[in-house]
Amino acid sequence: MALDAETKRIVSLFELSDDWLNRAVGEYISQAEEGLRSDGTSLSQIPTYVTAVPNGKEKGVYLAVDLGGTNFRVCSVRLNGDTTFNLTYNKVAVPKELMTAKKAEDLFAFLAKQIETFLHEHHKDEFEGVRRRTRSTRKGQKDEDIFHLGFTFSYPVKQLAINKGTLMRWTKGFDIPDAIGKDVCALLQTELDKLHLPVRVAALVNDTVGTLLARSYTSSGHSETLVGAIFGTGTNGAYVEKLSNIKKPIEGEYDASTGKMILNTEWGSFDNQLNILPSTTWDTDLDRESVNPGFHVFEKRVSGMYLGEIVRRSILEMVQNEQLSLFKDVNSSSNDWRSTTSISPQSGLMQLWGLDSSVLSVAASDNTPELSVLRQELEDNLDIYSPSLEDAQAFKAIADAVGRRAARLAAVPIAGVLLQSGQLNDPDSDVIDIGVDGSLVEHYPFFRDMMYEALAAVDGIGPDGAKRIRIGIAKDGSGVGAALIALVAAKMEKERGVGDAVKRELDTVPGNCECFCFPSFSRLCLFPLHPFFFSVVEGRDFPEFNPL
Ligand code: ADP
Ligand code: MG
Repeated sequence: MALDAETKRIVSLFELSDDWLNRAVGEYISQAEEGLRSDGTSLSQIPTYVTAVPNGKEKGVYLAVDLGGTNFRVCSVRLNGDTTFNLTYNKVAVPKELMTAKKAEDLFAFLAKQIETFLHEHHKDEFEGVRRRTRSTRKGQKDEDIFHLGFTFSYPVKQLAINKGTLMRWTKGFDIPDAIGKDVCALLQTELDKLHLPVRVAALVNDTVGTLLARSYTSSGHSETLVGAIFGTGTNGAYVEKLSNIKKPIEGEYDASTGKMILNTEWGSFDNQLNILPSTTWDTDLDRESVNPGFHVFEKRVSGMYLGEIVRRSILEMVQNEQLSLFKDVNSSSNDWRSTTSISPQSGLMQLWGLDSSVLSVAASDNTPELSVLRQELEDNLDIYSPSLEDAQAFKAIADAVGRRAARLAAVPIAGVLLQSGQLNDPDSDVIDIGVDGSLVEHYPFFRDMMYEALAAVDGIGPDGAKRIRIGIAKDGSGVGAALIALVAAKMEKERGVGDAVKRELDTVPGNCECFCFPSFSRLCLFPLHPFFFSVVEGRDFPEFNPL
């Protein structure tokens, strides 16, 4: 009985009332507005210079790479021009030691190597052909030989041009101080050049923006995508904002004719000051022992990297409580597998970050009366032998509570953006489209349903408003989104003759290499995503695009 009572107590610590949700949405809106007025606030609201969305008719083959928090994906994307695409990809886990490497070069050399491997595997003919030609011409690669690459880099970056951005800080467990303040495109291009790869880093993309654009490319009908959101290793969102609402200065030039721009909110940092966010002792301890204490505190309650760790800490505390029977042998009478319940000293339960969030998905989806799937998972994944039904019930209750809290929290920025945009009052937009990506939202059972439930509880949205919101997975969103931006950047270069202009500029910059990461680039092409560029692809004079 003690176990049952303690489980209920802990579960209640993770509950968020509807009243709390409403206050949190108000707080989000106020922090979001602060971020529109000035820099250095908790919500960065970073301008992306993207002022139009694609319409599904774009065509071509592009490379896209995505450095998430867990994996590095390399893919080539063929945009078919009819809202469909074909995608080939390789995925490798980023080695832990590289996440905290001494030099930025170590990480970026690894990334370049993966791109080389991918080209060998999937584009061998083009790749070898280009290499042969490159060797035989002293002038180097011709433009048409080059693969244009969209680099999805999902860490806070101060974007200075379509393919130039300096790293503000690391998140999601990365910590390479050497890279802070450096242009991440230049870091990658330098390593690609060392390998003599025919690849140009054409565009720097945040995964949220990629998700928004990819959703917009693939989604049918006339509804515009308003938000692109990630719930994977970390969480973040980008949305379409009216230029007139952005009060802080936007450096450089951009096309203002659409009157709108996509902003990268960096909502992982929502409420770093903890005005409203719930804090259990496990949240506080996890933050203190993380590589970035005090930062990304919203992310630390919502995303895949952290949910397993919150569960691990709360379960471990229960295991260490002598008064409680959790994973101890006292329940053997109802233990139908073996007679002794035991936890291996090597169990992930005993290790920092030792419980993967995917275990929460197993717990949430097991509705068998004996919780047999979860009990097997506890054995296989966590080396907890012969857990009883009561053990598994307690584990499931806590894991479900942490997952549910995350989904309700995830609804807060979405509700905030929606209310702030006023779209629900717009009689022309019957459906409000939200593109999402990331393993958590894709695989955690009912994550989106719990988000809808929370959205329906928010004043100003309500059940009717929630019905008009369509939260759709943007499958392979970052790959397709990055390809779309690479396409735009490549066409932009060609159509505007930027390549020539850049060459001339280059002559005046001593010691610069032949890559597209130089100081003068921002002056040359800060119209990155003028609506015109999406039309250029189809060779028209003026766009048939979805103005934002
Ligand atoms: P990235 O953030 O690198 O782009 P993903 O979107 O795949 O990668 O997210 C990886 C994160 O999602 C990891 O933190 C992992 O623990 C978590 N995760 C993976 N599978 C699941 C699952 N089935 N349920 C919940 N979380 C998951
Ligand atoms: Mg991702």
